[in-house]
Amino acid sequence: MAQKKQYKAETKRLLDLMIHSIYTHKEIFLRELISNASDALDKIYHASLHNEVEIDRTKLEIRITVDEKARTLTITDNGIGMTASEIEDNLGVIAKSGSFTFKKGLKEEDKQDDIDIIGQFGVGFYSAFMVAEKVEVYSQSAKGEDSVRFESEGEDGYKIETVEKRPIGTTIVLHLKADEEDENYSLYLENYEIKNLIKKYSDYIRYPIKMNEEQSDYDEKGEVKETKIVEVTLNSMIPLWKRNKSELKDEDYNSFYQDKFNDFQAPSKVIHTNLEGALSFDALLFVPSHVPPAFYTQDYQAGLQLYSRGVFILDHAKDLLPDAFRFVRGLVDSPDLSLNISREMLQHDRQLKAIASRLEKKIKGELLGMLKTDREKYEAFYKNFGLQIKYGAYAQYGANKELLEDLILFGSSKELKMVSLEEYVERMKEDQKEIFYVSGESLAKCDALPQTEWVKEKGYEILYLTDDVDEFVLQAFGTYKEKAFKAINQGDLDLGTEEEKQALKDKGEANKDLLESLKEALKDQVSDVRLSGRLKSHPVCLVSDEGLSFEMEKVLAQMPDGAPNMKAKRILELNSEHPLIEALSKVSQDKVKDYAELLYSQALLIEGFTLEDPVKFSNTLAQLMIDASK
Ligand code: ADP
Repeated sequence: MAQKKQYKAETKRLLDLMIHSIYTHKEIFLRELISNASDALDKIYHASLHNEVEIDRTKLEIRITVDEKARTLTITDNGIGMTASEIEDNLGVIAKSGSFTFKKGLKEEDKQDDIDIIGQFGVGFYSAFMVAEKVEVYSQSAKGEDSVRFESEGEDGYKIETVEKRPIGTTIVLHLKADEEDENYSLYLENYEIKNLIKKYSDYIRYPIKMNEEQSDYDEKGEVKETKIVEVTLNSMIPLWKRNKSELKDEDYNSFYQDKFNDFQAPSKVIHTNLEGALSFDALLFVPSHVPPAFYTQDYQAGLQLYSRGVFILDHAKDLLPDAFRFVRGLVDSPDLSLNISREMLQHDRQLKAIASRLEKKIKGELLGMLKTDREKYEAFYKNFGLQIKYGAYAQYGANKELLEDLILFGSSKELKMVSLEEYVERMKEDQKEIFYVSGESLAKCDALPQTEWVKEKGYEILYLTDDVDEFVLQAFGTYKEKAFKAINQGDLDLGTEEEKQALKDKGEANKDLLESLKEALKDQVSDVRLSGRLKSHPVCLVSDEGLSFEMEKVLAQMPDGAPNMKAKRILELNSEHPLIEALSKVSQDKVKDYAELLYSQALLIEGFTLEDPVKFSNTLAQLMIDASK
């Protein structure tokens, strides 16, 4: 007799959630199990194409049987099957990555979180425990090895044992729970209910889902003449993507997506497209409505599923999507593809390249459409995947500029809302030649920078860049509609009138000595100290010279193999209209160094830098306060 094993702690928690949670649609268990069976059939089909197993491919099927007396519902497939160790790996643990830890202190109230957690794993097999008190799995792997039996009554563990040789495939026996006041589990023993559920969730499954049914013949008097058992196929087997768009409802797409891609939320966008002609294909694409777990990591497997005439060929075919769109999930079915195609061959396949380029345009078009007609939805989408689009825009020196430039949004000084480059350029002032931007940690921080005040007051809009990658994107783009990008805290900012410029020059002359002595005091830190043409009410600011910007300096410093010594050239600018200038001109020569350092430290803090010697800063400031009170 096999020894009873304990589930891992995470699995136990998840099972507990499954069994006791208010997870609304218990009925989805059937869809999950059928989907697993269908996957197993795909796998054996595939193995047979590669001559790894010998089967009659026309006999692949899923079979459902009901035993009312025993209260069991059984789902059998003649798919790939599992060996004992595969069962152990697949059904004995849920959190396969092992890195996942449950949120601590999950409480009854956190039902929404339950669903999140459940959704992250795509419950699959475990959903059986929503309706069954005991689950048995019998399996024979196509790889040979012994037939095995797995049994579990939920939370307190499972056992696996060897059993007498069985045909290749898997049988899952659900011992349904007893009915409760508000839960009717016996429903799942009724033929009509099973038929409904299959129609609802699994109609498109490519293999026949069969069940035996009693059918009676009647004589003239309407009495039963003969009753016989007939085998009926419950699903139409037409893949969803082959069906007419006009016949399909949102919920058809949504449930297909949720089932196929194990998502607990409906997609935010469905793209169903067909092409006929020299190149033919059907594509069914989905934009998830939330960021999938691990999306922004190496672990995430992007790519579309590939089918040929409804037959599954490959999962995660990456070459079908540009990296910027790796959040898109879905499938492509093309009669032009060979069933025997391998991952390596894919990269060179001309058909595939042609499909990829079509899809790219289609996805872009749909997203642009969303941006134009449903701003709110687009911004929600962008919150999730905007970063990916920006990475894509930056990659390969902006090779995808044309594809992506109109999909990107940045924060803006206009009401701190998001703006596209197109919108920005459309409302540029007549005399404006460049697209202004500034980087910062948040929109609010950008907006509070001393340099923005004057630019805004002059009526110019400023892009507020808050992601590390943003400046790199602009750099990769170079221009947008022939307009260059210009950081308002870098180099010269030529916005004043001729009179203003002349006045600034005059003031510079008048304060030459002061500026020289400040410059001398800060000669190791800054490359220049000058009067500013970009400040209104604030006394000082730091700007960088052309070349490396502050933001890039920070990003580079963070990179593991980055360049900590790459520094932006710093220029300290003083507001010529500020009373500070006069105050400074009165400072005695021996204090100038302290003042200069204080000004510089302040300017650094404003730009979000940390001070090398904050204690010195604090002490100098304290001394200044003492002096001032004398
Ligand atoms: P998922 O299907 O999301 O991977 P499941 O918990 O439903 O998660 O299943 C875990 C794994 O168990 C599957 O990936 C598959 O390898 C295996 N499995 C489940 N059901 C079957 C089946 N009927 N035949 C063969 N393997 C199966």
